[in-house]
Amino acid sequence: MTTKAFVIGHPIAHSKSPLIHEYWLKALEIDGSYEAIDVLPDDLGRFFERMRQGAFIGGNVTIPHKQTALQFCDTVAEVARRIGAINTVQVQDGQIHGSNTDMIGFLANLDGKAPDWDTQKRTCMVLGAGGAARAVLVALHDRGFENIYVLNRTLETAQRLCAELKGPFHAHALADFAKLAAECTLLVNTTSIGMHGTAFAGLDLSKLPASALVTDIVYTPLQTPLLRAATAIGLQTVDGLGMLLHQAVPGFEGWFGQRPRITPDLRALVEKAIAP
Ligand code: NAP
Repeated sequence: MTTKAFVIGHPIAHSKSPLIHEYWLKALEIDGSYEAIDVLPDDLGRFFERMRQGAFIGGNVTIPHKQTALQFCDTVAEVARRIGAINTVQVQDGQIHGSNTDMIGFLANLDGKAPDWDTQKRTCMVLGAGGAARAVLVALHDRGFENIYVLNRTLETAQRLCAELKGPFHAHALADFAKLAAECTLLVNTTSIGMHGTAFAGLDLSKLPASALVTDIVYTPLQTPLLRAATAIGLQTVDGLGMLLHQAVPGFEGWFGQRPRITPDLRALVEKAIAP
């Protein structure tokens, strides 16, 4: 039986997943492999067919395939169906099972770094309504948040997503930040703003309560301009690297049969790789 796993996306060269899984393969002395493969959107169905025929034991699926890949799976975990996207697949007896571990990663990161983050469970704000927002919104809903504001540059996209996911979601334009911020004990950025130092214009974080937690799922750079601005006014922050590390655990365990650990060494290795 093959012991080959992968991450597919387009582009894919930037992915830090091979670093993480290769670290675990070596640490656990497992004779397996994990490679990054560039798959064009038009080739996704063919790649799944190769998988079904036994070329791989499974792998990760990333941008831009997370939503479209769902249709090529034979079975899909219930939570991935609700999210409307997968990021992990496993092959068993020629059948491909899709799941979504981004939600697990998002929650485990906050649980580990800010254990009280969800004790109030009332109102929070999510910036962005793209692919990554889906897992974050379902996670916050499942953790009992009663009121979840979704602010997006394109209001219609947020409206569509809120209607599709069904829950206590309320779509707004980014311009509504100042009006809504005082109610929010948690602010989550899921937009790609912050990547490589880009910053939001006109978000006045001082409108958040002093007890608010700010987290960014963007992890390049680790301290995004949003996190730096939050820290500067004394708000608690959690960076997004932990989400990437935690989402990788269930996939590795499923493919290779051993539960890997997120060690300080592993985190340092990935931090070094994303350092400017
Ligand atoms: P996506 O589907 O392309 O969505 C991008 C989102 O960002 C949309 O809401 C988009 O708004 C918004 N946006 C982009 N440029 C903007 C701008 N200039 N001004 C305002 N809003 C802007 O991407 P995604 O898959 O959701 O990924 C988003 C980020 O999350 C990426 O940086 C990715 O690396 C990160 N991520 C991290 C993890 C992790 O493990 N930490 C996991 C998944 C994703 P419109 O709708 O208006 O275009």
